[in-house]
Amino acid sequence: MSQTTEQIQKSDIKDILENSLNGKRPEPEDCLRLLESDDVHLMGLVSGHLTKKQFGKKASFINNIILNYTDVCITDCKFCAFYRPPGAEDAYTLTLDQIESRVKTSWDLFKIRQVLIQGGHNPNLKIEYYEDAFRMIREKFPQVGVHGLSTSEIDMIAKVEKSSTKEILSRLKDSGLQSVPGAGAEILVDSVKDVISPKKISSADWIRIMDEAHSLGLPASATMMYGHVENKKDIVDHFFKIVKLQEKTKGFMAFIPWNFEPINTLMHEEGLVEYGTGGVQLLKMIAISRLVFDGLIPHIQSSWLTNGVGMAQLALQYGANDFGGTLIGEEVVSCTGARSTELTDKKIIAAIHQIGYQVEERDNFYNPVNTS
Ligand code: SF4
Repeated sequence: MSQTTEQIQKSDIKDILENSLNGKRPEPEDCLRLLESDDVHLMGLVSGHLTKKQFGKKASFINNIILNYTDVCITDCKFCAFYRPPGAEDAYTLTLDQIESRVKTSWDLFKIRQVLIQGGHNPNLKIEYYEDAFRMIREKFPQVGVHGLSTSEIDMIAKVEKSSTKEILSRLKDSGLQSVPGAGAEILVDSVKDVISPKKISSADWIRIMDEAHSLGLPASATMMYGHVENKKDIVDHFFKIVKLQEKTKGFMAFIPWNFEPINTLMHEEGLVEYGTGGVQLLKMIAISRLVFDGLIPHIQSSWLTNGVGMAQLALQYGANDFGGTLIGEEVVSCTGARSTELTDKKIIAAIHQIGYQVEERDNFYNPVNTS
């Protein structure tokens, strides 16, 4: 009997882990038991094994920037330290020229493969603003992928244009949008959203807009922001809403669980959340993500931005296969003071090599660009 099998035999989640090793994903009630269990390292042993079976000792990353094009927002999420109300003295919206110059500099310096475009819900921006930006990027920087706009930003544009979200997605795709990030999901349970982001789109709308994106041939990421007012059952519901959509569309390329950082947010001020959930919980969420999405969503990202390089290295042993992006220019998490550090591709490559893994630099669609 191998050491792994022996350890599993003694665990109260052994049936779930054995099923995973036999290719059977956890059911919702199993997922709840995993969340309640303290056997984090055992989960990691199994999820790490499943990940290695699929990817070998190899981790990918992408050279990218985050373009937070505006901080003007009317949605007032309680977990957000980034936004400014319309008319605020220090509010900003990047011009097309500023966007071009940021992308050009990043291409020249870092040979980025993706611009991750996210901003506030700015009621002053018409769809042409986004169309012009996407078209410019695709025409002038054809090797740079456009990964942009959360479902709630798409909903905001639809409201501004008095149009449907599907029509907006279709126009954005025609102008150069290539994939949709998973932001705005937080926890896909409305009783949670009512507390942390009551003015944001509902869980059903997030799922519907993702469904529309997938049906138009726009792949996406899915995310989960945990560690605030949600309970374990809410996390299970979140996972399985994404499982259900993915079984239908196969449109999600990656899943990214990341922990809420409370500093400088209203939720911290109001005493709803005192501190972040930390490293062990991150490893648990990464491991459960791999078990739940095994064979369904191929890529699980480490969450280096809020947890640092050391934790990302561990996450790669616990079920993540993608380090994430260099995220040059990120401003949203930075506003909470929780951004771990500026990372260049050299630092990520070194961090992956340190754990004895091969590095695969990838593009927006997880195709390899370079290996080392
Ligand atoms: S998270 Fe996004 S939608 Fe919510 S307040 Fe911040 S910028 Fe606005």
